[in-house]
Amino acid sequence: MHMMCLRRTASIFAGLVLCVTGIVSALERAAAQNAAPPSPIVAENAVKRVSEHSYVIMGFPNIGFVVGNRATLVIDTGMGARNGATVLREAQKLAKNPVIYLTTTHFHPEHASGAQAFPPQIPLMRPIKQQEEMDRLDMKYVELFRSRSALNKELLEDLKPRRADILFDPEMKLDLGGVTARLFWWGAAHTQGDELILVEQDGTLFPGDVVQNKLVACYINKWHMNLFHDISEHVHCQGTFATVFRGAL
Ligand SMILES: [Zn+2]
Ligand SMILES: [Zn+2]
Repeated sequence: MHMMCLRRTASIFAGLVLCVTGIVSALERAAAQNAAPPSPIVAENAVKRVSEHSYVIMGFPNIGFVVGNRATLVIDTGMGARNGATVLREAQKLAKNPVIYLTTTHFHPEHASGAQAFPPQIPLMRPIKQQEEMDRLDMKYVELFRSRSALNKELLEDLKPRRADILFDPEMKLDLGGVTARLFWWGAAHTQGDELILVEQDGTLFPGDVVQNKLVACYINKWHMNLFHDISEHVHCQGTFATVFRGAL
């Protein structure tokens, strides 16, 4: 879909949030079921290939990588600097070229608070809306996550929030060499600043927490509804992070 069209769609429907109820995080669901909360430690040597250029580390949260001949895009950092360093090491192992980019699907600490482990020469890019929301709410959420366990508290010690080097609205395209990643902000869903990443050549979508196990967070408009219908038709939202997207944008 053309960028102007995206912007128009986003602005026309910005006020028409049809569904915001029933959104629960994986942690909240685990607590409700008396199950142990998922470990916040990003696993080493656990990268799985999910399509030609796309890789994931499954966990809390799922981390994505898109590997091109020219550069590698890292999607989400894990919680705190220790996990961020693991993610960076795994990216360097996968990369065909030293150029690395970093993006975050939303501001929640398990997705974005490891960014300080990435050196400043690795550009961090995110939607304007996500950065604004992070500026407003980040420390509140960090405190909430710190209070959940001693391990979380340790992981979130000495936190140095990192602001984006490149801000976009509503879309940017990254040519990684033989593969293109399109980074989108479509409107509020799981948060105000959700970003979705489409790997064009693979037909793989990294939806962040907008799509969770058996849970599609929120429809912003009819177009989203079609998108999520398409996603759930094809993969049934069974917790697959790199969701195969077969529709046309
Ligand atoms: Zn989240
Ligand atoms: Zn999450």
